[in-house]
Amino acid sequence: MARTALVTGGSRGIGAAISKALKEAGYDVAATYAGNDEKAKAFTDETGIKTYKWNVADYDESKSGIEQVEADLGPIDIVIANAGITRDAPFHKMKPEQWKEVIDTNLTGVFNTIHPVWPGMRERGFGRIVVISSINGQKGQFAQVNYAATKAGDLGIVKSLAQEGASKGITANAVCPGYIATEMVMAVPEKVREAIIGQIPTGRLGEPEEIARCVTFLVSDDAAFINGSTISANGGQFFV
Ligand code: NDP
Repeated sequence: MARTALVTGGSRGIGAAISKALKEAGYDVAATYAGNDEKAKAFTDETGIKTYKWNVADYDESKSGIEQVEADLGPIDIVIANAGITRDAPFHKMKPEQWKEVIDTNLTGVFNTIHPVWPGMRERGFGRIVVISSINGQKGQFAQVNYAATKAGDLGIVKSLAQEGASKGITANAVCPGYIATEMVMAVPEKVREAIIGQIPTGRLGEPEEIARCVTFLVSDDAAFINGSTISANGGQFFV
């Protein structure tokens, strides 16, 4: 029987590429989204992948959404915690709401996504967790105190879960993308984007599919001994 994978924020951007790659690799995939019904419908029409709407920042919504996925597709073996947002501002202008929204989505959202599936993975003796962090969680970034804090926190979650899950056949790893050509990055003013590309030794933005291939490897049986790791995929922009 095919394993079931849950991809949060799996209806567009990097998440959509991950959902498609996992489907192609033979998994049953559920992709979630926050509110963009039009994009989600177009994604399902194009790929045949079922989408589910809930806010990852809300524990109860996440838990009941996950229960619905499991009722439809069976126990979730693979979780890709990908949903994320930015609310950028230099620190002296950052509003508490901007801090809170990003923490709730990118950090608490990862807890809310993994926590409800964790007991089942432990019971069944198998699980694959991949959290999509960011280069800016590794190095910090001007105007992203909130975002960098969450993405660094996500690495802490992964390293801790790796230790807790190892004896139960569960691995937890992170992928830290550099700048990838999605709506999140294309929303940045062109001049800023050009400056960003100037800092990438490869001389271009990454493609969502390049992140999806990292994820597909990490969830495979071949990656069973990789646990608590971070794969940086950033065109040589930053080394840990
Ligand atoms: P996009 O903005 O293109 O897509 C975000 C996805 O997450 C959408 O499906 C969106 O749903 C969903 N989402 C957002 N907020 C919530 C929420 N509260 N609850 C549920 N779903 C939510 O993002 P990217 O593809 O660019 O980024 C994906 C991940 O990769 C993020 O975690 C991001 O931080 C990380 N990343 C991205 C980089 C990049 O260069 N793009 C670089 C490094 C890391 P909806 O469509 O309904 O809005």
